[in-house]
Amino acid sequence: MDLKQWHCKNKHALGVIRLNGNGIPQLMLYRHAVDMTAEQPAQVDVMIGPLVGQMPVQCDICGEVKPWIASVDALAELIFGLSQSQKVQLQARLMKENEDKVRKFRSKARFE
Ligand SMILES: [Zn+2]
Repeated sequence: MDLKQWHCKNKHALGVIRLNGNGIPQLMLYRHAVDMTAEQPAQVDVMIGPLVGQMPVQCDICGEVKPWIASVDALAELIFGLSQSQKVQLQARLMKENEDKVRKFRSKARFE
């Protein structure tokens, strides 16, 4: 398994990024940040995850907040795993959002 450490800007380890079976990066979040520069780094606690979607992760050593943003590939994989009826609902929602955007754009254009 391919693992890459994911840390805050102060180099505290927040978790590891691993590639799942389809080569898509997933964040395996540690329960607590680990200071790897400490003389005796704490044992890595149970991991929470894998994280999907987007989520701000706060380092509990220095308080730095780092956003985790899943790749489009990861989101696509999630969507491909949905049932047919969930896909239909998702598609309807995306279309509605798109229509709302177009409507807003048109009403804005009218006032210019
Ligand atoms: Zn930190």
